[in-house]
Amino acid sequence: MSPLYPILVFALLFTGLTAAAQSGPEADLQKSFGTLRESARKTAAEASKRKAEAAQNLVTVSIAPAKEPKSQWWEKVLRRNAMFADNARLMSQQFNLPGPLPVRFVECQDANAWYSAEPAPHIDICYQLLRRSAALLKPAVPPEHLTQSVLLSALWTFYHELGHALIHVYDLPTVGKEEDAVDQLSTLILLGSDEGGVQAVQIAAVEFFRTGERAEKDIADASKRGQNLEFPFWDVHSLDKQRFYEMLCLAYGKNPTENADLITEGLLPKERAEGCEYEYQKTDRAWDALLAPHLRQSPAPAAKP
Ligand SMILES: [Zn+2]
Repeated sequence: MSPLYPILVFALLFTGLTAAAQSGPEADLQKSFGTLRESARKTAAEASKRKAEAAQNLVTVSIAPAKEPKSQWWEKVLRRNAMFADNARLMSQQFNLPGPLPVRFVECQDANAWYSAEPAPHIDICYQLLRRSAALLKPAVPPEHLTQSVLLSALWTFYHELGHALIHVYDLPTVGKEEDAVDQLSTLILLGSDEGGVQAVQIAAVEFFRTGERAEKDIADASKRGQNLEFPFWDVHSLDKQRFYEMLCLAYGKNPTENADLITEGLLPKERAEGCEYEYQKTDRAWDALLAPHLRQSPAPAAKP
């Protein structure tokens, strides 16, 4: 907490006393002082409670004013929706964080989201990312579910970026690509929550599939024009369709009986599905071991979509 906080509280009390001393006869003044002392006690108690709450709620969500009309629409949606604030509060309750971790919805140049430690740890999620989600998901979900689907996809991104933040602030070791590790963490947290969390994983997976299809089309179109375009094999992220299959594998591995339709509907090849239960258990155990020393309390995080 900032050391300025107690000074601000005293300044407010002083202002209140001065205003009361200037009004009414002496008896009323005594009464006013009594009331003010009482209100001072209450204010101090409330300030102390707020301070304790602020120290607890280190993951916070802010929604910046958007500039572009399409972003402004998402700004309004986010201001009416408590889902991200609820999840931030849950994460504050779960993890012993060394300092504040603000999550900011902001206007950017690109459809992107990131965790950065500079100048202080924070997560930015661009309105442009939500706008791209809406365009990608539009053909895949009923119109009345589009807004909620975009928010659920952004919730998966929220936990992906939170994964980067946890790796950094706790200096956690990761084997393999960090991007794969945080894809898995986000998926595990959401699969471990209620039906909404599972939906968030499904929606985010669909979006990766659609992004992959779009990339395939761009490459095919470029080839027709005689241009040589290829997938970003060099990227820190796995390819979009690989991310899709990884998420499906974890969902299936968590509950093969309930998710048997992933195989029967041809979404998850049987060859991959065979190892998914083991993959899920191994990944879940790895993240549990890494995060256990940093939890305020058990059990494991439960997201709240
Ligand atoms: Zn990432």
